[in-house]
Amino acid sequence: MNKDLIRTKCPICNSKDFKPICSMGKEYIETSKNGWRNQKSRNVAAGMDFEKNPKLKIIYNKCSKCGIFFLDRIVPIEDAFAKIYGGTQLGEEMFKSSSVNSIVDTSRRIRN
Ligand SMILES: [Zn+2]
Repeated sequence: MNKDLIRTKCPICNSKDFKPICSMGKEYIETSKNGWRNQKSRNVAAGMDFEKNPKLKIIYNKCSKCGIFFLDRIVPIEDAFAKIYGGTQLGEEMFKSSSVNSIVDTSRRIRN
């Protein structure tokens, strides 16, 4: 993962006073049926290659000053989608149905 994408301060108030709330690794992001179940190819394109870096964790932080929750890094998932699906018919269809997919994914996670 690109070091420029690591956050060292709150993205809202710029405070450096924040605490980790939870961390998410390969199981939560990629393999567990109760997790996000992101495609491996999408994760790799976004800089999350769990085969090369099995200890990679994404941490949720809570800012002690303003109270917002934020990830410890910027995950360029839109760039990953563009690399994988840009200019394809599938990409066009995904763009048009992204709201529906979000609802389906969220419902699936709530049920599990
Ligand atoms: Zn803050």
